[in-house]
Amino acid sequence: MQLIQVKDKLEGSIKGLEIIENEIKAGRVNTLGLATGSTPETLYAEMIKSDVDTAEITTVNLDEYVGLAADDPNSYHYYMNQLLFSKKAFKESFLPNGLAKDAAAECARYEEILAAHPVDIQILGIGTNGHIGFNEPGTPFDSLTHKVELTESTREANKRFFEREEDVPTHAYSMGIKSIMNAKKIILFAFGENKAEAIKETIKGSVDVKCPASALQNHPDVTIIVDEEAASLL
Ligand code: PGA
Repeated sequence: MQLIQVKDKLEGSIKGLEIIENEIKAGRVNTLGLATGSTPETLYAEMIKSDVDTAEITTVNLDEYVGLAADDPNSYHYYMNQLLFSKKAFKESFLPNGLAKDAAAECARYEEILAAHPVDIQILGIGTNGHIGFNEPGTPFDSLTHKVELTESTREANKRFFEREEDVPTHAYSMGIKSIMNAKKIILFAFGENKAEAIKETIKGSVDVKCPASALQNHPDVTIIVDEEAASLL
């Protein structure tokens, strides 16, 4: 694991974009794995400003809420359209379908997409409980795309995006930990004091399902970009 400590989210996002751009310019990126949440917002804003050409790059996203349509303002599909896809051209973009009727078929479909588009760089945020994607503590490290029941702490953390607490979905589709670990290169971003404990467990803790991100210790090419607050317990 390579750790890069920066002053704040802006500096971290610029640093991360620099790594991504270098890989793109070297011709090593056919597929970019994307994430949602507040963590990558600045990265996407900087990517839009950049002249890096992404028109031949396919994107795959980590997760989507079950029950939300792509045009629902709370869906991750909508988030991606608003923050990136409507402002920067990509070849094609995939997210799980929150309205899929058959959960098992949807998960299998998404794994087929991942098999056809192996991820060259995966962008990750991290939950306060160490989750990556929506892989909550206890998720097996050999998990593929699956339907997840969200923990109370995750619903609590994400309720700020919803008008009413009861609107926060209870389930999501998420790439599994194994699906994430299949990426050739991973860049995890963590900003803010509420991520400090999860970052400590990820880097210094044992490799254990109680901290899903600790699986990354076993990946050959992981860069973790943290601000001073997220690094405060290291
Ligand atoms: P955040 O969420 O970027 O909104 O902090 C990250 C995550 O839960 O993975």
